Amino acid sequence: MRKALSVLLAALLLAGSLVSCTETDAEPSSDKPLVVATNFVLYDTARVLAGDLAEVRMLLPPGTDAHEYELTLADTALVADADLFLYIGGESEDWVDDLFASMREEDRPDSCRLIDTSLHYAEEKTEGLQTEEEPEEDAIDEHIWTSFHNLLGIVQQTALHLRYLFPKEKDILTDRRIAYEEELLALSDAYRQTIDGAKRKTLVFADRFPFLYLAKEFGLDYYAAFSGCSSNVEASLATIHFLVSKVEEEGIPAVFVMELSDGKCAEAVARETGCAVLTLYSGHNVTPEEFESGITYLDLLRQNLETLKIALN
Ligand SMILES: [Zn+2]
Repeated sequence: MRKALSVLLAALLLAGSLVSCTETDAEPSSDKPLVVATNFVLYDTARVLAGDLAEVRMLLPPGTDAHEYELTLADTALVADADLFLYIGGESEDWVDDLFASMREEDRPDSCRLIDTSLHYAEEKTEGLQTEEEPEEDAIDEHIWTSFHNLLGIVQQTALHLRYLFPKEKDILTDRRIAYEEELLALSDAYRQTIDGAKRKTLVFADRFPFLYLAKEFGLDYYAAFSGCSSNVEASLATIHFLVSKVEEEGIPAVFVMELSDGKCAEAVARETGCAVLTLYSGHNVTPEEFESGITYLDLLRQNLETLKIALN
């Protein structure tokens, strides 16, 4: 059922800081049930499982920074229209609580806040990290999906909600879930083998670092310019010098950036040390070209494995 009109009034009340004026092409285009997901990983999970049964939409415009997202009026209508809404529910998605509070209970879509159902860690303060301000005590790092354990949980939760949406298709949904889980488990094993057999266990991120969960899952050490995605400022000279010293001391062959990074800090480290710069895809978002091409999160995870083989050996 389309509820957009009935919540438009509530949405207008949110005008101001919450709602920006940039309109996107957010009008649903089919009569199939609508599944809306905030970021690329959740969008892709829903697409793998729901396939042709639903219209699956990603809220974040491709090519944009997930941490700079601002809810538009068109997006508000899209969320209200959704039959299922998937979101992480971390710090950068605080707007969801405000949006839901502004809607009548019967107008809220069935939703799944995945951070509640996942293993999560507090943001870490490690040596050399540059922070704009003291991180809040026990602030949760929201990039839960970068561990396979949590990703499998996201797959299960999404599948569970889709079963309610498509009760007649539960066998198809179960088959798809099992097939996807098997692919993820096989890839997780390949990561384990690669990392266990690698020459070194240290990642150097000359960038923001949304991979705390990946690092913890596989026992990797890390140095990063910034904790999580908390800062979007230029790295200081002290930060660059710290990373340069670590690359030189430990003979690190490559430093990492995350996707859609300006790469400035990494370039500076590479200039000083001669190391390579590699991209590790976090799954927040993809470029418009990648999005059009139909790239999947599994594709990104496979590319990451090849990149890790270079950086850890
Ligand atoms: Zn992030």
